[in-house]
Amino acid sequence: MTTQLFKEKPFQESALWDTMMEKNACTSFTLELTARCNNNCRHCYINLPAGDTTARMQELSVGQIMDIADQAVRMGAIWCTITGGEPLIRPDFAEIYIGLKKKGLLVSVMTNATLVTGELVKLFLRYPPRDIEITVYGVTRETYEAVSRRAGSFNAFMRGLDLLLDAGIKIRLKAIAIRSNLHEIQKIAEFSQLRTKDYYRFDPQIILRIDHDPVRNNEIRNERLTPDEIVALEQSDADRTKALEKNCDKLIMSKLSLAESNHLFQCGAGKEVFNVSPDGMFRLCMSLCHPDCVYDLKTGSLADAWQNFIPKVRDMQSNQKDFLSNCQVCPIINLCLWCPGHAYLETGRLDEMVDYFCRVAHARAKALGYTKGTG
Ligand code: SF4
Ligand code: SF4
Repeated sequence: MTTQLFKEKPFQESALWDTMMEKNACTSFTLELTARCNNNCRHCYINLPAGDTTARMQELSVGQIMDIADQAVRMGAIWCTITGGEPLIRPDFAEIYIGLKKKGLLVSVMTNATLVTGELVKLFLRYPPRDIEITVYGVTRETYEAVSRRAGSFNAFMRGLDLLLDAGIKIRLKAIAIRSNLHEIQKIAEFSQLRTKDYYRFDPQIILRIDHDPVRNNEIRNERLTPDEIVALEQSDADRTKALEKNCDKLIMSKLSLAESNHLFQCGAGKEVFNVSPDGMFRLCMSLCHPDCVYDLKTGSLADAWQNFIPKVRDMQSNQKDFLSNCQVCPIINLCLWCPGHAYLETGRLDEMVDYFCRVAHARAKALGYTKGTG
């Protein structure tokens, strides 16, 4: 396939374009190379089987990806994060990676590390990534594979991780705390901090599937921690607790600083960063998959998406009373995973409250000493 699938980009050289860019400069983007993965993690919001031919056929070609990257660089982007699914599953990964590096981009790679080879390590040594971010699902075979649901994946993960570490490539380790690995989360933290001293973070909340698969969504719900478990976990992390307490004033808003409009988007979606799905859909952020909020880059241009499409999405408003009197004026929204994108995944609507997120946010607020009820 060639890059001609993409339309001309009429706005890029114009004064209007320059003015617009000043208002909302593009700094980075995330490229989902594939939704396919060699693992089948219980909590995963995106993965499809490695051999899914329909998904593979829909993936952007190298030429299409390079065209999008060219457009992004012209708009000012300096940093690209490659993710998936599992991006290393693509046989043309090296070609894509080198192509992005040669455009002068800083490139980060998010991977499960199970497909790292000596050849890939040589590639990363020759063209260093900004960093490689790897999720640690467990530090024993039993726990790791209870999450990944693939025999042999723990050994493959350890081998890949060691290859990268032995070569001195910059690694960041992170974890996702779910029912299947909660008993090992402390050991995961110790394992990770031992290997990457300057960086470790864990995420205690997981989101539903972007394909809305009901069976997989039930699996994800079963993996979710209770609000009390989340708070206990967060409180066991001294740095996190300190940061939460320090920023308490900013996290919990006064009535005066709350939104007074009906606009759905109070967050940073569509500002400075964007996301491209495996099949070439422009998204304001990774989780925002509502059909009215995505733009097909195979038939349009990044400039058009940035200049014309984003403002339309950010102008979307709600007339839903429940939403307007709760989430829209919620003092603890910064402690909540609620946002229009996540609300859509949970409820099918962009402006619906999400009971589970609400309970987690209130538990966090209570732990910080905020007791007034909202929502
Ligand atoms: S390794 Fe990552 S992309 Fe693959 S199934 Fe697990 S969470 Fe999903
Ligand atoms: S779900 Fe609840 S806590 Fe979250 S923003 Fe809405 S009202 Fe606030």
